[in-house]
Amino acid sequence: MKIRVQDIAFWTALAIAAPMAGTGIAQRSPREEGLAHIATAKKAAGYDNAVLFDHTCSRLLVGAALPYGRIAPPPNDRDPKNFHTEPVKVFDNLYYVGEKMQHGGSPSAWALVTSEGIILIDTMFENSMHDEILGGFTKLNLNPADIKYILISHNHPDHTGGLSYLQTTYHPKVIMGGPDWDAALRPNARGVAAAPPIRDISAADGQKVTLGGVTITLYVTPGHTAGTVSMLIPVIDKGVPHLAALWGGTGMQFSAADYSTQAARFRNIAAKAGADVVLSTHSQLDSSDVKLPLILKRRPGDPNPYVVGTDVVQGYLSVAHECGAAAVLMPEEYKGYLGRSGSD
Ligand SMILES: [Zn+2]
Repeated sequence: MKIRVQDIAFWTALAIAAPMAGTGIAQRSPREEGLAHIATAKKAAGYDNAVLFDHTCSRLLVGAALPYGRIAPPPNDRDPKNFHTEPVKVFDNLYYVGEKMQHGGSPSAWALVTSEGIILIDTMFENSMHDEILGGFTKLNLNPADIKYILISHNHPDHTGGLSYLQTTYHPKVIMGGPDWDAALRPNARGVAAAPPIRDISAADGQKVTLGGVTITLYVTPGHTAGTVSMLIPVIDKGVPHLAALWGGTGMQFSAADYSTQAARFRNIAAKAGADVVLSTHSQLDSSDVKLPLILKRRPGDPNPYVVGTDVVQGYLSVAHECGAAAVLMPEEYKGYLGRSGSD
């Protein structure tokens, strides 16, 4: 018997419908399935991950009407006067050298300090790199010449704008996802600063970056961009080790299907590794806007607000996974979601 595609579709439909016959359960439409994923995401989000929920699921429902996170960028957010903030020592070995949180797209950067040098995560825009990273290093008594590695979460201008200058001035090794290197080096590429970066190392999935006995593990998690890199970062709080999970890109711009799949995969990786800290390279998405002031007011014996526990880390990545799954099932809404401007 010759099997035609139509037949397969017919028998598949029948196979799905048959068990439901007589049960009174109507089959859910894809949109209804999508809304069910959003409901699951909402439950997983709770208070701690509400901003990520808004950034992905809520925005999926209302499209570009919802600004970055909950706060629209002011017209002058690239003015150093407006994005400047002081660096903060968040863990014994990790410093916040990001911008002040002005809106949900405000980028941040992190410096992991080891006995053999510094690993810098993301470089923001070129002017905020000068102000926050180099200016911050001076205040922290850190030497930018000690930056041995720069790890890039993804090639968007708010993460790679300062890369070229740091590369040509201090010559660190730079690791970015392969497809994101390709994108960064394309003529007129989005994300290229005054000068394009120099192609260096393409991140491999599971790649370990070790410096001074500290090992960051990289995972290639396409979804926000084709070469987004997520990371597990060992941090120490008053001598106690913790593990941070950094989800490399937050919006579902490149592929909602990949975004959902990779979030589930990284969630399992983070669970096995026992990650109990959420970090992001946007200050709103790891609630740095709330946590940095708490760090500055921290008294002896107070908990570190960045140590949220394994359940909240799992919830964070569940939100990403479920909202990605919803986007796949809701093509009209996803079109509206992609219609927004800006990057994150
Ligand atoms: Zn981005």
